[in-house]
Amino acid sequence: MSFRRLETADATGKTALVRVDFNVPMHNGAVSDDTRLRAALPTIRALTAKGAKVALLAHFDRPKGKRVPEMSLAPVAPALTKLLGAPVAFADDCVGDAAKSAIAKLPAGGVILLENTRFHASEEKNDPALAKEIAALGDLYVNDAFSAAHRAHASTEGLAKLLPAYAGKQMEQELDALEAALGAPKRPVIGIVGGAKVSTKIELLQNLVGKLDTLVIGGAMANTFLYAQGREVGDSLCEKDFADTAKAILAAAEKSGCKILLPLDAVVAETLASDAPTTVRDLGNENVAPAEKIFDCGPKSITAINAAIDASATLIWNGPLGVFETPPFDAATVAVAQHAAARAQSGKLIAVAGGGDTVAALNHARIADKLTFVSTAGGAFLEWMEGKALPGVEALKA
Ligand code: ADP
Ligand code: MG
Repeated sequence: MSFRRLETADATGKTALVRVDFNVPMHNGAVSDDTRLRAALPTIRALTAKGAKVALLAHFDRPKGKRVPEMSLAPVAPALTKLLGAPVAFADDCVGDAAKSAIAKLPAGGVILLENTRFHASEEKNDPALAKEIAALGDLYVNDAFSAAHRAHASTEGLAKLLPAYAGKQMEQELDALEAALGAPKRPVIGIVGGAKVSTKIELLQNLVGKLDTLVIGGAMANTFLYAQGREVGDSLCEKDFADTAKAILAAAEKSGCKILLPLDAVVAETLASDAPTTVRDLGNENVAPAEKIFDCGPKSITAINAAIDASATLIWNGPLGVFETPPFDAATVAVAQHAAARAQSGKLIAVAGGGDTVAALNHARIADKLTFVSTAGGAFLEWMEGKALPGVEALKA
């Protein structure tokens, strides 16, 4: 994907307005997880090393256009100071005289955090007037917040149109990974889609069947597909109203030459509990009994999925294969995750994954750092998997 990269920016002696994702967990008025702050350091350092002043723009929570004291970004400045090893100033507004004079006071290579952009209602309306006011504070714009790129807001999209605009280091890494997974992937490319419901992932499935060589469907959403094919799914989570949608997706897959891999066997129990008695049902020749619920894919399915991964050069994954939060129903998710990680580690697979529960599942399998890339972007990642153009990314295209 062709977008403007930070290394091409002429930032020396300039003021860079950098959009970051500092929507961090806070506890008792202090940052309780600094992952997102650490993720922004490479971009901040790349700019300060060039002698640029860095003014950080971010939203926090949902103040809905009002000044909500508990949603101030003020506690982030000391936390970032510690991580950066250099002072981070704070201005209590992202526009106006407060911001302007605080930025003017910064030395070359100095860093300031500006107050929550969403304290202005015009931020989420992508009001050009707000974008213009922010743009007046700097010389160039850097977007390092992929997770906010699916929203066309003043600080994510409007501003990019008013100043020379570049992707930050984190954004760059994310875009390069996504391009490698679906944009121009090394083939064959396999997708795994799991999770709870077909209804939340219709567009994603439709987009994927047009792009993948193989699509593995797991999780509860597979139940809807099995039901659509006339199988018994007992008391499993199953969206029977979406049987026609499932059929349409299967037809689209057939038309575009995407092989679909549904579970061959299932781990069932009558209640969702770690100590519930479980049975494996071979879906080829056994029925799931009326009181039984499918909570995971069985051993035959795991073998088939791993073999399909072995035959692929690229993997894109969203959604767990079973109820991984309640072992032993984490078995398929963990086994496939560990297999994909080993393939990625041996250089045989480009493996990209994302999604809120998916990230939790990969952490549970202890391999999140062993895949090629794991996106923590949530909504933006899913919209990208749906094939949608993300306004914050479009604005950075060269
Ligand atoms: P993500 O957040 O990664 O996009 P989803 O939200 O779509 O993923 O789905 C995750 C949820 O799907 C998990 O909470 C998991 O327990 C649930 N799930 C997976 N398989 C099943 C199943 N067989 N029955 C019920 N829930 C399931
Ligand atoms: Mg989820």
